[in-house]
Amino acid sequence: MSTQPTLDVNNIAHLIDGCLETGGKSFDVINPSTGAAFARCPDASRDQFERAVGAARRAFPGWSKTSFKERRDRLNRFCDAIQGRLEELAMLLTTEQGKPLAAAKAEIERAVYIARHLITILIEPEVMRSDATGRVELRYKPLGVVGGITPWNVPIIMAVPKIASALYTGNTILLKPSPYTPLATLRLGDIGRDVFPPGVLNILAGGNDLGQWMTEHPDIDKINFTGSVATGKRVMAAASTNMKRLTLELGGNDAAIVLNDVDPRAIAASLFQAAFANSGQVCQAIKRLYVHEDVYEAMVSELAAIAKRVKVGDGFEEGVVCGPVQNAAQYRRVLDILDDTARQSGVRILAGGHAIDRPGYFIAPTVVADIAEGTRLVDEEPFGPVLPVIRFNDLDDAVARANDTRFGLGASVWTRDLDKGAEVAARLESGVAWVNHHVGTAPEYPFGGIKESGMGRSNGEMGLKRNMEPQLLVLPPAA
Ligand code: NAD
Repeated sequence: MSTQPTLDVNNIAHLIDGCLETGGKSFDVINPSTGAAFARCPDASRDQFERAVGAARRAFPGWSKTSFKERRDRLNRFCDAIQGRLEELAMLLTTEQGKPLAAAKAEIERAVYIARHLITILIEPEVMRSDATGRVELRYKPLGVVGGITPWNVPIIMAVPKIASALYTGNTILLKPSPYTPLATLRLGDIGRDVFPPGVLNILAGGNDLGQWMTEHPDIDKINFTGSVATGKRVMAAASTNMKRLTLELGGNDAAIVLNDVDPRAIAASLFQAAFANSGQVCQAIKRLYVHEDVYEAMVSELAAIAKRVKVGDGFEEGVVCGPVQNAAQYRRVLDILDDTARQSGVRILAGGHAIDRPGYFIAPTVVADIAEGTRLVDEEPFGPVLPVIRFNDLDDAVARANDTRFGLGASVWTRDLDKGAEVAARLESGVAWVNHHVGTAPEYPFGGIKESGMGRSNGEMGLKRNMEPQLLVLPPAA
């Protein structure tokens, strides 16, 4: 039974220099559970963009001189206000993104939790020397205007920490959500406009051209980008115009390696969750599962049983675990990969493998056995509810195959032997490696990818300092 309350899609506007603004062109926002447009979103013009950059630039000197405490207080008020509008934000998020309402609420709460933790981290000068020869300190200064660009899979968990990281470290920000999921992020502008001085927080919706304008603009000092590898490369090229600082959180094709000492039944639910949360549209989801041949059949049948059991549907329906794929282009891409998979000889599709015959972009949770490298499903990032399970009998070979990719976001090892797990995890080429766990970030730890999965880190002191520039201060000995 649907529990969808009334959705408010009025007053959807950009935040520019402390004012909500619409005007000009607009575009449709599609509900992926129906495939139909449910709202119009304003599409920022070049003039609105220039005014937003100008406002952020003008606000920077004043904002950068405020204390960490003042910025922390304002960001805490922002977080309070977001929590106060949790229901409304969650409804927008479920309608535009597709995820179950409980997951939308959890995403917003997690975003606030990360932001609140980030703003407790102290950034102090590092004293590198203090003796009779003098004093040398490494100080951290804000960069200026940060441009935040976010994807459609987890819009709020991408937006709120980007805002908190930039503003807490004394920068101003111009944030741009994905055109597929702009509405909940624009609401953050409405929420933040009374909390911050004009120009400190600016949020504009628009298409990819708006992202391109941001990466090329000489008055933007840093781009904090989350999205695909292909776009990340374009961002990096355009950022060279004024040597913008970059944090790039890009795609992944995470491997998990299951050793032969596990109880498949005991770990199946955790593996399923790590692969199929958000219908597989998670950068760090398990996207290649390597399973030892001793436990292979038991493992694939446990996973397939869960895949057949979970409820797929509109995120507002009770008990839904998997929502739709978020947009039509991604839906077609996942179905193309499934067509390619079905054509491979010897492959067994144990669950799903097809679209669901209803409006919207629904694909049945899919578990594919007896597949290997050299196929699109294994080599590419499918970013949908589809998991290839690959057989191995030699651990060194499995590690080599897991590492044989241009991606390097996350990776994991599943075993009862924790020493062995730690040893294998350390050999995996990834920004994070887990034992008996996969997916998830904590605000206190740096998060990011190696190889083509990204550059730099978010979160933790290391992530915050990516919004700052170190300056070495060299002082003579006291007279
Ligand atoms: P995308 O790269 O297509 O778009 C991301 C954002 O970039 C959007 O806001 C888009 O409008 C903008 N954009 C597009 N072209 C641009 C350009 N030339 N210059 C500047 N901005 C431009 O990615 P997507 O399809 O929205 O998101 C899915 C991808 O994001 C997946 O690859 C996923 O793995 C990745 N992702 C990574 C992380 C991470 O933390 N590593 C987290 C979430 C998603």
